[in-house]
Amino acid sequence: MEPKTVFLIGALMMLANGGVLGLMHRDLPHTLRPSAVSWRIATLLHACGCLMFMVQDELPKGFILPLANGLVMFGFTGYWRALRQFYGVPDSWWLLLPAGAATFGVFWFTAMEANTVPRILIVSTAWVVMMLGCVRNLLGQKRRDRAVSRLVMTGIFIAVIAFVLARVLYFATLDIGPAYSVTDTSNWINFATPIVVAVVPVIGTTAFLLMISERIRRQWERAASTDYLTGLANRRTLADAGARRHAAARAKGDGFGLAVIDIDHFKSINDRHGHDIGDVALKHVAAQLQVACREAELPARQGGEEFVVLFEDVDRASAHAAGERLRLAVAAQPFVAGDLTLPLTVSIGVAVLEEGDADFDCLLRRADAALYAAKRNGRNRVESAAGRHASLPDGGASAAHQISQSL
Ligand code: GH3
Ligand code: MG
Ligand code: MG
Repeated sequence: MEPKTVFLIGALMMLANGGVLGLMHRDLPHTLRPSAVSWRIATLLHACGCLMFMVQDELPKGFILPLANGLVMFGFTGYWRALRQFYGVPDSWWLLLPAGAATFGVFWFTAMEANTVPRILIVSTAWVVMMLGCVRNLLGQKRRDRAVSRLVMTGIFIAVIAFVLARVLYFATLDIGPAYSVTDTSNWINFATPIVVAVVPVIGTTAFLLMISERIRRQWERAASTDYLTGLANRRTLADAGARRHAAARAKGDGFGLAVIDIDHFKSINDRHGHDIGDVALKHVAAQLQVACREAELPARQGGEEFVVLFEDVDRASAHAAGERLRLAVAAQPFVAGDLTLPLTVSIGVAVLEEGDADFDCLLRRADAALYAAKRNGRNRVESAAGRHASLPDGGASAAHQISQSL
C-alpha cells in the first residue's frame, strides 16, 4: 500500500469517527457540547490535512505543504482546545501560536528557502508542544478521578509524542534534500507517519467518546447521591453509608457514632425573609458543616433543615466533642446576604453505637431523641444520648439520662 492510500484511508476513518460524534451531538449534555464541537472541527481539519498530503505531488509545494501541515496542526490546536473545554479551562489566543508559527515556518522553508530538515523540525516541535499541552490538561491537578478513558487518551498522546520524537531523530540522521516528500514510497517511516497522524483523530475520538460517557455516568451518580440544594450527601446515600458503617463497626468492634443537627428557629427565617433567602441560609449552614467535618466524617442532608454527620472511631466523649466542633463552626459564621446578617445556630443530638443498636435506624432514633433534649434545653447546644454503661462528658447528663429512660 502506498502512503497516499494510507492518507486516504486515514482521512475517511477520521471523517467517519467525527460523523459518529456529530450524530451523538443532540444527546450530549449542554455543558459538554462546546468541547465535542471543537473535537469534531479538529477531526475535520485533520482529515482535510490528510487529503492535502495525498494530493501534494499534483500541486505546487509552496502552496500545498503549508496548507496540509497547517490543517493538521490547527487540528491539534482543536483537540487541545476541546480538552481544555472538557475540563472547564478558559479559552486563550495563545493556543493558536504553535500552529500559526509552525505553518509560517513550513511556508518559509518550502516557498522561500526550500529545506526539509528545519521544516520537519518545526512541524514536530509544534506537534509535541500541543500534545504536551493536551497531556498537561489530562493530568492536571484537579483530575483525581480514576477515569480509564482519560488515561487511555493520555497514553495515545504520549505514544504519538514518542513517535514524533523518534521520527525527528531518524530524519536528523538522513541526508534528505528539499525534494523529499512524505509520500515517497522508498522510506518505511512514510508508511508509519499517516497511520500515526490518524491515531489521535481515530482512536482518540473513541477515547473522547468514552470520556464523555464516563463524565455523564459520574454526573448521574452524583445527582442520585447528593442533595440538589446543598451538594451534601442525600438521604439515600446517608442510609447506605450508615448501614454499611454500622455493620462494619459491629463486626470489628470499632466505635461508630453520629450527630443529628437541626437549625434553630429556621421557620422564622423563611417567614421573615422569604423561602429563597431560607434556601441560601440552608446552603450556608451546609457549607459550614462540610468545612468543619474531618476527612472520615460524612455530612449529609437528612431533609428539610436537618443534617446528619457520621463519625468513625469515636467513643461518647469524642463524638460529643465532634458535635461541639460542628455547633461552634455554624455559630461562628453568621449568614450574610447583601445587607442582611443573620446569626444562625444549630442544636445537635449525638449518639454512639451500643450493643442494643440492632441497625442504623436505632442509632438515628437515639440521636434524634438527644436532639429533642437539646431543643428543650435551650437550643444552640449538643446533647449526647446516654449510654448504658458510660458516664456523660458534660452537663447534658440529666437531659440525656431522661432520653435513655424514655427509650
Ligand atoms: P426549631 O428551633 O424548633 O428547630 O425551630 P424551626 O423553626 O427550625 O423548626 P420547624 O420544624 O418548625 O421549621 C422548620 C422549617 O424549615 C419549616 C420549613 O419551612 C423549613 N424548611 C424545610 N426545608 C426547607 C427548604 O428546603 N428550604 C427552605 N427555605 N426552608 C425549608
Ligand atoms: Mg429547626
Ligand atoms: Mg427540623
